[in-house]
Amino acid sequence: MSSRRTGIVLTEHGGAEVLRVRSLAPQAPAPGEVRVAVTHVALNHLDLWVRKGVPGHDFHLPRIPGSDVAGVLLDPTPTLPSGTAVVLHPSWGCGVCPACLDGHQDRCRAFRIRGENADGGCVTEVVVPAWQVLPIPAHLAPREAVALPLTLLTAWHMLVTRGRLARGERVLVQAGGSGVGVMAIQIAQLYGCEVHATASTEGRRALLTAMGVRAWPYDAIGARDVDVVVESVGETTWAASLRALAWGGRLVCCGATSGPDVHLNLRAVFFKQLEIVGATMGSTGELLRAWREVEAGRIRPIVDRVLPMSRIADAHAILEGRAAFGKIVLEQDLATASLESP
Ligand SMILES: [Zn+2]
Repeated sequence: MSSRRTGIVLTEHGGAEVLRVRSLAPQAPAPGEVRVAVTHVALNHLDLWVRKGVPGHDFHLPRIPGSDVAGVLLDPTPTLPSGTAVVLHPSWGCGVCPACLDGHQDRCRAFRIRGENADGGCVTEVVVPAWQVLPIPAHLAPREAVALPLTLLTAWHMLVTRGRLARGERVLVQAGGSGVGVMAIQIAQLYGCEVHATASTEGRRALLTAMGVRAWPYDAIGARDVDVVVESVGETTWAASLRALAWGGRLVCCGATSGPDVHLNLRAVFFKQLEIVGATMGSTGELLRAWREVEAGRIRPIVDRVLPMSRIADAHAILEGRAAFGKIVLEQDLATASLESP
């Protein structure tokens, strides 16, 4: 028997005050679906955009936020018994269009990202198609594994697929301590690359150095002859990213946390034969491939801190202030949180 659920629901865009805890109707699984008791959610920069709103983009509120979700299966899947600790695929396509059938779900015009244009995991229980669960390897706790799916998929798609990373190349990761940054660094290291990364404070640069990376302040990166730049910052790092590239280099961009309007000098593009490549999320198959590296212990989650889910507003403030290294994880406590009236 399903009972009422408790979740965080956005009914309007705005500051942290729009993150309200509500009582929600139970959901029953349809054939092929399973219930998952949510134990953890990891924040992404996307959560800030969903909360604040983006001019010209309709998020179809009300929306339960939370793209990266871990929990416990309440129903068995064809391959996993109930009680299994799982994370959820963060995105999916329609399944029937040419892009989906070519394995490019990320190019499907009906592409869905959990917590953005489909309800997310900041709720006590979710119902999902059985194929959307991924078992957590025994060596990881759910509070660690939840830090992986969205940024692992994004970074994998950026470097391996869109950036065509080759063994032994030189890579620059802008905002190396971000969620995407710490994944991109580890993927580049899997490929035996020399990795450079930027960070704003000495403390964060020390953490990057401990990962085996050559860490730089944002204004000190200079011309580094790097083959691939991982860009997620936008306006404030764009010029330095282009300058850092080697002849024939690729700049792969998955976001613009500091703003999307950049200046582009075409001379640099044609003279240095640069490629500027966009990337959003990735395919379902890419995450399964990247997950093997997680299972083998070659990619590890990096968690900055764990907070109770009812303190999501504090978590947003930490993420917004760029005070985290790696992921901020929310631990389930909504069933005992006080409900807020509309
Ligand atoms: Zn499709």
